Amino acid sequence: MPVQPPPVKRQLAAVFDMNKCLGCQTCTIACKTLWTDEEGMEYMWWNIVSTMPGEGTPRGWQKLSGGFQDGEPRPSRLPKLSEFGHAWEFNYEDVLYGGQGMNQHLQPKTGDDNWGPLWDEDQASGAYPNSYFFYLQMICMHCTNPACLAACPRQAIYKRVDDGIVLIDEERCSGYRFCMEACPYKRIYFNQAKKVSQKCILCYPRIEQGVAPACFRQCPGRVRFIGFLDDEESAVHKLVKVWKVAIPLHPEFGTEPNMYYVPPLSPPLFDDNGDVIEGSERIPRQYLESLFGPDVNRVLDTLRTEMAKTRRGEKSEMLDTLIAYEWKSMFGGFTRDPGTLKRPV
Ligand code: SF4
Ligand code: SF4
Ligand code: SF4
Repeated sequence: MPVQPPPVKRQLAAVFDMNKCLGCQTCTIACKTLWTDEEGMEYMWWNIVSTMPGEGTPRGWQKLSGGFQDGEPRPSRLPKLSEFGHAWEFNYEDVLYGGQGMNQHLQPKTGDDNWGPLWDEDQASGAYPNSYFFYLQMICMHCTNPACLAACPRQAIYKRVDDGIVLIDEERCSGYRFCMEACPYKRIYFNQAKKVSQKCILCYPRIEQGVAPACFRQCPGRVRFIGFLDDEESAVHKLVKVWKVAIPLHPEFGTEPNMYYVPPLSPPLFDDNGDVIEGSERIPRQYLESLFGPDVNRVLDTLRTEMAKTRRGEKSEMLDTLIAYEWKSMFGGFTRDPGTLKRPV
């Protein structure tokens, strides 16, 4: 039987409303500048926003397996460095100041030409005019049953009892990378300079001081909600537990993730004459089921019912919560201004 962490007193959780994401990557950069700008962390993106349907990062992570099936670990493999890829350097100096006019074009100076982070950014699926894409936001899922923790022979990974945040103790980590292999969401990176595994820490130094994590606080789309799952006043609790319109990504991975998603609604399809096909949806439900399981159908139908209500002039507390007219309503009490911190993070 795989190792399980002791039960937590409370669990922090998050909801990502996929319908509001701009794909701007402000969240990605907020994390990068705060936590992963040191040596060995160059290729790390603890927060990623991938264009879907797409391969994501590391490339094809959904097929790499991991997690649990029937309570037993599912075999997986370690993602290769080339599957993460790295950000390219471009020949701006040559193009802008090289004096070669139109003979010099913008191109990468370095980089693996087979893959890189956001390689398939904004690339649509389906045929025009019925093409579509949407954005998937991912950080560590701070799972209730973390496969990374179960796989570590050094007990270097632990789950905090007070808030359920999953952390890696770098003093104990021996760099075996079994965690990286076991995590089905492939949210762990290996730091080649320090020879330890590293991942999203849910900005715990901020959480401890009442501040929302950087990638949540900085999001201009008001996509990201955070709060304790048992806090009945929090938007997270209402969306997950009361209205049940936020559901986990790949629940079949068996790690009981604590990040939840409001799945994307679709624009309608056009027929050959360019007319809207009433009641149709451009994103195939089958594809969404492959991400969220069959429960996604219930959620999308619930969202559509609520939207119909507001179109009739009725109120929808659920939609008002998702719209988040007041930003503080999204953060379950973690609303302190980071500028006021004694220990700045
Ligand atoms: S998402 Fe992966 S790294 Fe994060 S807690 Fe779950 S199993 Fe561990
Ligand atoms: S919660 Fe904090 S550590 Fe985790 S991805 Fe967001 S900014 Fe990075
Ligand atoms: S989650 Fe927010 S910050 Fe991140 S890409 Fe989407 S809109 Fe931008």
